[in-house]
Amino acid sequence: MTSEEIKTLDGEHVMQTYARFDAVFDHGEGAALYSPEGKKYIDFTSGIGVSSLGYGNKPWADAVRQQALKLQHTSNLFYNEPYARLAEVLTKRSGMKNVFFANAGGEANEGMIKLARKYSFDKYGPGRSSIITLRQSFHGRTITTLAATGQDQFHNFFFPFTEGFSHVPPNDIKALQDALAARAVSSLGVDGTAALKPVAASGGVCAVMVELIQGEGGVNPLAPGYVKEVETLCRELDILLLVDEVQTGVGRTGAVFAYQKYGIRPDVVSFAKGIANGLPMGGFLANEKCSAVLTHGTHATTFGGNPVSAAGALEVMNQLTDDVLRGVGEKGGRIMSEVGKWNLPIVREVRGMGLMIGVSLDGVAPKAVAEKCVERGLLILTAGNDALRFLPPLVITDGEIDAGLKILKDVLEGIS
Ligand code: PLP
Repeated sequence: MTSEEIKTLDGEHVMQTYARFDAVFDHGEGAALYSPEGKKYIDFTSGIGVSSLGYGNKPWADAVRQQALKLQHTSNLFYNEPYARLAEVLTKRSGMKNVFFANAGGEANEGMIKLARKYSFDKYGPGRSSIITLRQSFHGRTITTLAATGQDQFHNFFFPFTEGFSHVPPNDIKALQDALAARAVSSLGVDGTAALKPVAASGGVCAVMVELIQGEGGVNPLAPGYVKEVETLCRELDILLLVDEVQTGVGRTGAVFAYQKYGIRPDVVSFAKGIANGLPMGGFLANEKCSAVLTHGTHATTFGGNPVSAAGALEVMNQLTDDVLRGVGEKGGRIMSEVGKWNLPIVREVRGMGLMIGVSLDGVAPKAVAEKCVERGLLILTAGNDALRFLPPLVITDGEIDAGLKILKDVLEGIS
């Protein structure tokens, strides 16, 4: 089919929930995608941080194909090898105790939230179920993960949301302390004493949930000192620290997980996007303390840990060697320093970690820049209100980076 025929079918038969760019893809190779007519695009998006091994990755395709021929699904009422092996690899490389497999990021975060509430219920009884998240965060599109998301623009239309979520500004430990203290006083009554037990001192809060680099919110890395303080506060009050690594995880920042770069130990960490190079998979890893909270019958999902997705994920983890992770850091550094050197007045700031990079712009809508880039053969994302976002495949080559950056520079120079 031609690009025009495909767009017509979409317009007639698909719910129009996506403001799609004007580009249709047929196949890809490395970090390049091609339209049905053969137009080439350099991909700085990897399908929003998903196609970590790029396109046409033969060992990955072989692993998926072989597993599909052998066994594609059985249900979680039975055992099979791929998910069990993947669980071993993920726990070893994360230092966590065990894993629950889901299918996407929002679903993974929902499970993580359930775990936090049950942890608290089992230990302290009812009434300690609130979760604090950060402003500008993004945690998913389900009703509960929308409630967790700290951006008002996502809170239209879909009321009522799951209760028990509140948001504090990022990088402001006092705001978090105040939010906890305010609730502690109200849960203790006016004569609240200083000797607060964790249940009261937490003010009914069972968890704090953060993205270490807020992706959709603008590619804003949290300050390392702040993250350490949040970890300490959570430990003191027995509040679980939930880290949403749906976007930052699986090599994106140059470590398997970004929390390893920050030097913290979350209680639970979610992942999705890059784990299976494009096959649907997500999940969450729990530490020893949280590993037995979800028991038989308390959580489940039909497709979770699907053998084909798990075989793809095993190959992703196999290719995510120390060399590749080092390369992610180096390539990200190259992109950031190159964009910085352009010295363009419309570029306000370049920030990020590894191959998760944000470039905030002055006086021009990032979407307009991204659209011009697409016309010229470069795919790039936006984030927040003012930033361009780079999430290229982790295996992008220096040549592909240079070709993409040349297009971006030309477009930005044309606009400024
Ligand atoms: N959490 C974060 C940090 C994300 O970036 C996203 C998606 O962009 C999600 C959760 C939701 O993931 P999914 O779209 O796979 O449900």
